[in-house]
Amino acid sequence: MKIRERRADLTHTQQEAEALDGQLQEIQERLQLVQQAANVGIFEWDMRTRIITWTKEAEALFGLQPGSFGGDFASWEKTVHPDDLSEACTKVFESVTQKTRLDVQFRTIWPDGSIHWIYTKARTFYDTQGNPLRMLGINIDITERKNDEEQLRLSREQLRLFAESDIVGVFIADIYGTIYHANDAFLQIVGYSRTELCEGKIRWTNMTPPEWLPFDQEKLRQAQQAETPMIYEKQYLRRDGRIIDVLVGYLLVGERREQAIAFALDVTERKQVERQKDEFLGVVSHELRTPVTSLKVFVQTVQKRLKKSGDDENAELLGKMGAQIDRLARLIAELIDITKLETGKLQLSALQFDLSSLIDEVIEEMQRTTTHHSIRKEGILSISAWGDRDRIGQVLINLLSNAIKYSPLADSICVKMEADSEQVTVSVQDFGLGIPQEQQEQIFQRFYRVEEKDRETISGLGLGLYIAAEIIKRHGGKIWFKSTPGEGSTFFFSLPLQRYPSLMEEMEGA
Ligand code: ADP
Repeated sequence: MKIRERRADLTHTQQEAEALDGQLQEIQERLQLVQQAANVGIFEWDMRTRIITWTKEAEALFGLQPGSFGGDFASWEKTVHPDDLSEACTKVFESVTQKTRLDVQFRTIWPDGSIHWIYTKARTFYDTQGNPLRMLGINIDITERKNDEEQLRLSREQLRLFAESDIVGVFIADIYGTIYHANDAFLQIVGYSRTELCEGKIRWTNMTPPEWLPFDQEKLRQAQQAETPMIYEKQYLRRDGRIIDVLVGYLLVGERREQAIAFALDVTERKQVERQKDEFLGVVSHELRTPVTSLKVFVQTVQKRLKKSGDDENAELLGKMGAQIDRLARLIAELIDITKLETGKLQLSALQFDLSSLIDEVIEEMQRTTTHHSIRKEGILSISAWGDRDRIGQVLINLLSNAIKYSPLADSICVKMEADSEQVTVSVQDFGLGIPQEQQEQIFQRFYRVEEKDRETISGLGLGLYIAAEIIKRHGGKIWFKSTPGEGSTFFFSLPLQRYPSLMEEMEGA
């Protein structure tokens, strides 16, 4: 070959080598990127020279500085948690001798003492005689997954311990009625045996008295939407035919939230005591009503006579007495209402009535009870609504009497009426004490009163708002409020403009 040709040939080979070098570098860079992105580290173990090579990403997974890995099997052994070492070594040697892929998980202790989980996957290559040449593999940090698994295991364990403790009935069911698991306490509550449970004979839908099923369905619907646990009282029909009161609570789980982890607590005794208390209240308040009503009539008659005879001083005294009797009568009426509500005996009529004139009447009546507040009306002038006129009037009275009671230093109260095509909203605004933020959630509860120095001398039973809320709820409406302590409160209620179906049913059922 001529010299010129040989030189050209050499230049060509050099160019090819450079190109290859460039490609190799590119591949290495890509490999590095992949390792970093996937949080994995590659290793290679040359079995003839016994040298183990780790990429710097592999070293990072073991908490080592780049280039500080010793490069042999003993150095790897040093990184493995002593409790996992023997099993990890066995798996490595088994995979090499049995010519299978290596698949092993172990803990490593970093130089700073922290513990991390590593998952190693590798494959060994052999020569034609079957002698191992090299092992190529990857390490993956699976600490986070392991921690999650541990958390899950712990919570399962806690749930199991809780169920086995039999403090309350615990069961796992689906929203259609099947009960898959239940602890002994649950079986005891409902009176079924474990064999009956295993045979699939207990369905919560069959155990629920039919009148409670729509309520359950509504609660389940809410639970599916809200992702929060549901807790409420209902009744179960025991195997022996006895109806019991239970407090149930559940959390819906699973992708379609059709499975429930649930508890049940037998509250029959407590409900029994509550019913007795309600009955007692009912009887006592009825007994009180008659003498108080006659007392009021006597006082009015005597007052009239005194006025006629010109004894204004005593007539005024009797007037004050009359006002106190009115207060007593209102308290008794609240107690009677509460027992009616609790026993489902509060009947509502469903007639169309002029809401604006009702508001005017109530304002006039309440204006007479206060000398230093002026009650004004705002908003639309005329609208009619469906419902029980007297009971809606009672809601307004309760809200207005609260506005008066709880704004002793203010001089005005504003009642406003607004409407859209579907509903009418009435609001009662005062400029008084307001309601402390932390007690706002409770004020609609039965017998709840705000415990604050500023209202110690203001009397009440804590029933007015509860009764108002129940009346509005049963009209298919809503009641709510806004309040700033020291500035005042606005209570709102809305009523649908259409006749509410449950009212009709109630009327028909009554
Ligand atoms: P009562 O007035 O008989 O205590 P309610 O059920 O009517 O019972 O009200 C519950 C509590 O809510 C009251 O104790 C009171 O502290 C608070 N509250 C109700 N309305 C108002 C209001 N307009 N301003 C300030 N506090 C109010």
